[in-house]
Formats: sequence, structure tokens, C-alpha cells
Amino acid sequence: MLKLENFFDFMEESFDYLLVLDENAKVIHASEEIASDAFPDNGPLKGRSIEELLTSFSVATVRSAMSQAKAGTRGIVVLSTEDDGSLHIPLKAGYLIGDDGDVYPLFGNRLEGLTRGDAWEKDERIKELACLYSVAELIEGSLSIPDFFTRFPRTLGQGMLYPDEVVIYSRYLGVEYGQKPTSKNHLRVPLVVAKEEKGEILVGYQDDDHELLPEERKLLDEIGRSLKVALERKEFGEKIHLMEEEEEDYNKRLEQLRGEIESRTKELEEQKNKLSIVDSYLDRVKGGWEESKSRLETMFKVIPDDVVLIDKKHKVVMTNRDDIEPGTYCYTSYFHRDKPCEDCRLARILRDKTPVMLTMKMDERYVQVHALPVFNQDHEVDGILEFYRDITLEKTYDQQLQQADKLASIGQLVSGIGHEINNPNQFIRGNIRIIQQSLEDMLPIVDDYVKEHPDLKIARLNYDFFREHIMTLVDDMAHGSERIKAIVEGLRTFTRKDEGLLVDQVDINTLIETAARLVYNEVYKHADIEFDLSPGVPAFTGNSQKIEQVLVNLIVNASQAMPDGRRGMIKVATHYEKGMITILVEDNGKGMNESTVKQIFNPFFTTKRAKGGTGLGLAIAYRIIEEHNGKIQVRSKPGVGTTFIIRIPAPKAAPPAGEHK
Ligand code: ADP
Ligand code: MG
Repeated sequence: MLKLENFFDFMEESFDYLLVLDENAKVIHASEEIASDAFPDNGPLKGRSIEELLTSFSVATVRSAMSQAKAGTRGIVVLSTEDDGSLHIPLKAGYLIGDDGDVYPLFGNRLEGLTRGDAWEKDERIKELACLYSVAELIEGSLSIPDFFTRFPRTLGQGMLYPDEVVIYSRYLGVEYGQKPTSKNHLRVPLVVAKEEKGEILVGYQDDDHELLPEERKLLDEIGRSLKVALERKEFGEKIHLMEEEEEDYNKRLEQLRGEIESRTKELEEQKNKLSIVDSYLDRVKGGWEESKSRLETMFKVIPDDVVLIDKKHKVVMTNRDDIEPGTYCYTSYFHRDKPCEDCRLARILRDKTPVMLTMKMDERYVQVHALPVFNQDHEVDGILEFYRDITLEKTYDQQLQQADKLASIGQLVSGIGHEINNPNQFIRGNIRIIQQSLEDMLPIVDDYVKEHPDLKIARLNYDFFREHIMTLVDDMAHGSERIKAIVEGLRTFTRKDEGLLVDQVDINTLIETAARLVYNEVYKHADIEFDLSPGVPAFTGNSQKIEQVLVNLIVNASQAMPDGRRGMIKVATHYEKGMITILVEDNGKGMNESTVKQIFNPFFTTKRAKGGTGLGLAIAYRIIEEHNGKIQVRSKPGVGTTFIIRIPAPKAAPPAGEHK
């Protein structure tokens, strides 16, 4: 076994300068030559720190020795100096196999041009390049930035002089990898991306035993630069990086996916389009439906007639009447019955499938009903649509028109024939009077004549019989002629609408008393007259004579209504309220039944024809009151009596009738 001492001897055979230091830079061995040449006056060197021993003289000596060593004549030492003069001592020894196959022990590599052979340098350079290459590969091959920084120390470590003891720390974008080197003796490589420092790499050895060599610095600098480029190329490293093949695959897949997505998107787009068409169609349909519904509802509401849609089961489907709920039975809600009407139009239409039109009387009103069948698609009757039109007014107008027509034609007729009748009637009346007088004068003469001629016959009648009746016959004629006159006059009054202007201040109370006096003789036989005249009744503008005629008619009628053998009572009253004068003519006579009441204002209606009634009195009264903007009404009960009520408007402000005289 080779002992260290023997090794030194062996070395000294080849090199005259030999200095061996231990890990603590203390001299283990120094050849006699180097001790005396480089460190004179120092006594034994062994065990002493090289740092205390080293002087510029010794360095210069070693240097010259080294240049000789280069020439292969001298041994070498292991020293290194920095430019500032401080010493750095690499403490690991190495060796080199020369081209001749000799082994050269090396104790450092810092002394320029001295410590390494070319081969060693080449070797180191290869190692360096290999490291750079590995790092470049790592950069390319890393899946991500964290992946890179995790794998980075091992790759880098291989390029370092002492791979097992290297400490590498990286920080990038706030993420840290590895431990920070504790030794001050480390190198920092800033990671600059886009001119901004985003992180750093610290490289050092576990302890201060090892020095970072300039080569290592250079290597790190270079790695820093390529990292910077890589990081920049990777868009600051924020993207996942894939290996090329993977990337190709990925791109292919991506392309495929893109295609798929595109076609799916197209499909979806098409479906969406279709859907939106359907949607907008539905919207339109819905809108149209809403619109027609609301239009129908509005139409329904504005129809003045009642409209109702009824289904086959008599249920109201739709109606424009607010008081009728859809869903109720038509016979209940419209006719207040609990089962269908006997003359049910629905039943009729279900049977005949044809519309029905009719006029009904509901309470006091006339209603025209149009009922139309509503067919379904199979042309079966599904229900009916009914229109109810209130025609009460039309009916009334109709009746009034008919009445007016009647009156007008009567008027024309009367004014035509009135004249024709009146003239001959005047002759008749005049002549009858002459005949009466003639007879009165002639009869005593004839009487005398008969005494001598008892068989005398006149108009084939025995004279006695003739004598007894002739005057009655003539009286009857006179009476008949008078009646003709009365009727014609009455008709004239009735038709002569415009005659008699309404220009008097009519004082109704006074007028009533006058009228009563006028008819006193006729009335007195049947009834007493009582007055209840309100003094507050104002005068009104009208025709006194005509009003008087009305009063006379009413009072006479009342007296004529008294049953035979009972004296009746007639009461005439006036009163005034809210601009309206009311005149009451009340009797306790026979009264009238309903059908008589309905007709009394019709001209020529009379129940007293036999007693000379013309039936014109009330017709005339009606017309006169109408001319005064008033109303005449009647209340009557058979066996109880009759009351005529006249209302005539009179302005409130007019002074009371009394003050006007
Ligand atoms: P006239 O008196 O000529 O019959 P009017 O027009 O005056 O004609 O009357 C028409 C009919 O009205 C009468 O015939 C009578 O039947 C009825 N009438 C009128 N006034 C009364 C009354 N106060 N009481 C009962 N019936 C009456
Ligand atoms: Mg009368």
C-alpha cells in the first residue's frame, strides 16, 4: 500500500516544488525546495496556515516555478489569488493524465495557463457545453414552468464542478423552488423577462469549501441568458408548454375538436335559427290570437245589444253583460228559471240548425231576439249566439207614430168633411126651427079642422096619433142636428191645432171656478163640487180658453160618471211644487176598467154614445195639455172613482196668480 509519505517522495522525484495542504488550508507537506525558495525564514511549514505564510515574494517565486512547470521542469502548487490580492484556495486535488500517459496531480486550477492541461480544459468545456445543452433541452422538454424549475437543479448540477454539493434555488413569478444557499459564496442569476426582473436563480455550494469558478459563472450567465430567451419565447412562461410531438398531437386534436365544435356550433346555430323562426311564428300567432281575443272582447263590450254565447248544455260561454257570469245556465241567469224554458231556442236550433228571430215581452219591455247556430268543424251545432235588442222605445215610437198618423189623417178627413156636414146641417137646424114654429102655428088650426073631419089622416097616421108624436119627432130631429153640430165643432177644435195662441197669463185657480160655474146647471143634478185650490200656484203662459175647455170636459165627464140615484162628489185641487203646477180632478163615480183607461184619449172613444157622447172631450184635452208642455194622466178604479192629474210646468219666479189680476 502506498503511504502518503511515500507518495510525497514519489512526487518529489518528478517535481522539486511540492506543497500539499489539507482541507483547512494548512500545510501537510512541503518539499525542501519550495520551503527554502518561496517561504524562506519560516521554519518548518507543516501544520501552518498557508494564508499566514503567503507573501508576495512567495507568490512571485511560485509563479516563476509554474512557468517552469509548464515547461515540464517543475512541480506545481495550489494557490489562487484574486485581483484584490486576497487568496482563494480550492481545496480539492485532482489529477490529469498527460498525452504521454503520465499522471499529473493537480491541486488547483486557478493559476492561469499553469494549472490545467489542454485536455482537461477540453473536458471541462465539453462538460459545460453538455450542461448548457441539457438545460436547453430541459427548457424545450419541460411541460410547464414549475416542471422546468423542479428539474433544473439536477441538470445544472451536472455542469458544475462538484455536482453533489451544489445548491440551487430558483424563484420565478413568486414561486420558489429548492433551498436558498446558506453560503455567502454563491452566484445570482436574475431572470429578466421583457426587461423586468421576474425572479432569480441562486447557485452556490453547500458550504464555503468550494469556490465558484469563473467558468461556472460564465456557464450560469449563459444559462441565465438562454432562460431569459426561453421565458420570453414562452410568453413569460405562463402557458403550458408541450413537447413538440405532443404539441403536434395536441394541435391535431385541437384542430379536430375545433372542426367538431364548428360543425356542432353550426348545427346548433341552425337549430337555434329554426327554433327562433318557430318562436317568432308562435309569438306572431300568440300576438294575433291575443289581438283577436281583445278585439272580440272589445267588440262584445261595445255592442249595445246583449250578446251571449251559449253552449249545447245551456251554459253561458261568453257575454257582454256585466251582471251575468260565464258558466251559469242561461235559463237561470237570463230568465230566472231552474230548468230550460219551454220555448227554448237552443233546443229549436239544435233540431232545425237554422236561426231564430222573435220578439218577446220581458216584464214591461219588448225585446227582439236573434238566435244563430254556432257550428263546429263537423257542421254540428255546438251552441248558439243570441242577440237581444230592446225595442220598447221603437215600439212606443211606432205606436205614437201610428197614433199621430191616425190623428193627422183624421184631421184631414175631418176638416174636409166638417165643412160639408156643417153647411147642410145649418139648413137643417134652421129649417127645423121653422118647421117647429110652423107646426106650433098650424096645429091649433088643424085641431079645429079635425073636429069637423074626425077621419083626417096625416102621413097615413090617424090625426090623434100624429098630433101626439109629431112634436117629439121634430124635437128629436132638432136634437140630432145639434149633435151633428157639436161633433163637427169638436172635430174642428181637435184638428185646428194652431188656433188659439198661448199668450195669456193663465190663472188656473180662477179658471177652475169659472169653468165650474159654466157647467153648474148640468153638474148640479148629479154631484157637488169641492175646491182645494192652493194660493201659491203661479200663473203660467198659455191659452185660458183652451185650459177652460179642458176643465169643463173633465168636470162634466166626472159628473156623468155618477151612477143613477146617487149624488156624487167632485173635488178639484191645485198645488205647486218645483216649477210644476198640478191640477187634480177627482170623482167618486163609477170608475173605469183597465181596457177603458187605455182608450179614453183616443178620439171618438166613448162609452156614452147613446147619451150623446162624442168621444172627443179627452182627446181634445190631451192635445191642449200637450200644447202647454204638460201631461195628463188618469188613475181609476171601477166602483171607487177616477182622478185626472194634469201637470203643467210654470217658472218658479213668476208671481202668484192672485197678484196678476
Ligand atoms: P165622452 O165624454 O164624449 O164620452 P170623452 O173623451 O170625454 O168622451 O170621454 C171618453 C170616455 O172616457 C167616456 O165615454 C167615459 O167612458 C170615460 N170617462 C171620461 N171621464 C170619466 C170619469 N171621470 N169617470 C169614468 N169614466 C170617464
Ligand atoms: Mg166628455
